[in-house]
Amino acid sequence: MDTLMETLPDLAVSIDTLAVHAGREDLPDLGVHVPPIDLSSTNPLPSVDAGGESYEVMAGGGHPGPGGPVYQRLWNPTVARFETALAALEGTAESVAFASGMAAFTACVLAARQVGAVQGRGSHVVAIRPLYGGTDHVLASGLLGTDTTFVPAELVADAVRADTCLVVLETPGNPTLDLVDVAAVVHAAGDVPVLVDNTFATPVLQNPAALGASMVLHSGTKYLGGHGDVLAGAVACDLEWAAALRRVRALTGAIVHPLSGYLLHRGLQTLPLRVRAQQDSARQLAAWLAHEAPHVAQVHYPGLPGGDPYGVIGTQMRGPGAMIAIRLAGGAEVGFRRATEVTQRCHLFTHAVSLGGVDSLIQHPAALTHRPVAPGARPSPDIVRLSIGLEDIDDLRADLEQALR
Ligand SMILES: *Cc1c(COP(=O)(O)O)cnc(C)c1O
Repeated sequence: MDTLMETLPDLAVSIDTLAVHAGREDLPDLGVHVPPIDLSSTNPLPSVDAGGESYEVMAGGGHPGPGGPVYQRLWNPTVARFETALAALEGTAESVAFASGMAAFTACVLAARQVGAVQGRGSHVVAIRPLYGGTDHVLASGLLGTDTTFVPAELVADAVRADTCLVVLETPGNPTLDLVDVAAVVHAAGDVPVLVDNTFATPVLQNPAALGASMVLHSGTKYLGGHGDVLAGAVACDLEWAAALRRVRALTGAIVHPLSGYLLHRGLQTLPLRVRAQQDSARQLAAWLAHEAPHVAQVHYPGLPGGDPYGVIGTQMRGPGAMIAIRLAGGAEVGFRRATEVTQRCHLFTHAVSLGGVDSLIQHPAALTHRPVAPGARPSPDIVRLSIGLEDIDDLRADLEQALR
């Protein structure tokens, strides 16, 4: 499949245009207006030789040759169109889609270990907290054969060793929206590849590859899908990392289902509009929560004073995003009781994990998304996390106000 830059060189200058058109270059030749969903688990082979050659190329991480895709676990055209589109939005050569964000992260770690082993590196990982609870857990548990040192962003250079194969960070971080200066960490990491989880910012607000990140990870389940009906992950990266990731994906069976690939691709078309509208509401709600709302002790939001200690909004990020975390007033015990009550009393905000969809969600990170995190690093129990959706801002404010009272 042609890359977007080969086919839309001058017209597709804005992310809004790319979001609508990218990954659809082959549709006119197919005589269709929307991407077909190819559910084939296997594909007819033109000959033993051609099929074998395709298989060989894909097992090495390449795209199918004249023998076609061969088998869905190796490659699928519906998924590939989404991958082309996401790469265009992130400004990378390629992207590779997975069955979930965690499957994508697992593939990144395994790929980093393999690539690192060739370069004489070991299985040490440096990670900056806070991270999504699952990411934190899979690193802390050593399940993937890694040994992880968790450090603040400032100490990455000191923590990197000869056997370090990967540096992991998330910005804004889940759940307290901590920001990290990506370029500074890339510099501190030296030759070691840096993985940035860009789930919260989306390619609309931040493109970590342009700042030197080797792998840009998304839980596609969140903003990319955007409607709460897809479980998926994706990694945007250069050709070499993409090949390494597809090799891992083919062997571990972590490719995303074509129907999900279709929904992700459709989700991208409205991503810029959704993210900006949700961000507009989040900005207003964060200010109201910080200054007027009852029983709120602290608001974690990158757009508020103190929320951007490295001054990356306006340079690294194009806006503060649509996620907010609030700490309830009254100290640890009273705050915890209030936090649990607020989740129960909301009507428009659904009490549910996940985020980034068209509808607003509220959840308690310490009890749910970040439950597996080590006690010392777990979010405070008086914190709830809000994902701001597309509902009317006054309705959302009224719902929070009655829940907080
Ligand atoms: C949800 C999430 C993940 C994990 O993605 P899944 O699709 O649930 O596997 C990873 N990182 C961040 C920041 C997330 O919010």
